[in-house]
Amino acid sequence: MNKKLKDNLEKKIRVIPNFPKKGIQFQDITSITDSKQLFTEVVNEISKYCKKNKFTKVAGIEARGFIFGSAVAYKLGLPFIPIRKKGKLPGKVVKQKYKLEYGMDEIQVHKHSITSKDKVLIVDDLIATGGTAKAAAKLISKIGVKKIEFFMIIDLWNLEGSKKISKSYQIRSLMKAEG
Ligand code: AMP
Repeated sequence: MNKKLKDNLEKKIRVIPNFPKKGIQFQDITSITDSKQLFTEVVNEISKYCKKNKFTKVAGIEARGFIFGSAVAYKLGLPFIPIRKKGKLPGKVVKQKYKLEYGMDEIQVHKHSITSKDKVLIVDDLIATGGTAKAAAKLISKIGVKKIEFFMIIDLWNLEGSKKISKSYQIRSLMKAEG
């Protein structure tokens, strides 16, 4: 863990109460992307881990996972795999439904984008209850890859998503906050 980056992120992340709805403490990652120093450091830190552990592909969860995941993939010269919401990908897809607070949602990935030889690092901005991350792991597992791990910027630790995910997958984050 990079203590200096953690402290810096905790100091700089803007938290907006009651956005987009009442009761949500919204962690605004534009406080990272607005800063050339923070954005670079965050992307470098994830890239360092990705390189050291020889991941072959970086996957990002729509939409904020695209911002950081694609930057990491570009830096390392790796493919970037978008995990998208239902109906956005034109090719053959694998699908995974998951529960939201109200109702269901579905994520999809192109079948041809990942093979059974791949080690996939899934990147997202934040883990809260872990529902999205769990669905992403199930989705990629359907293709039968060699390894899946997660890298998040922010872990809302008291919502216990990371605790649940860590029973089956390695999950790292750059800072923790209360949700
Ligand atoms: P969950 O499935 O509950 O782990 O929620 C994770 C997803 O919801 C991530 O893709 C986040 O972008 C978004 N999200 C959930 N809670 C927050 C929050 N407090 N601030 C910003 N984004 C959030």
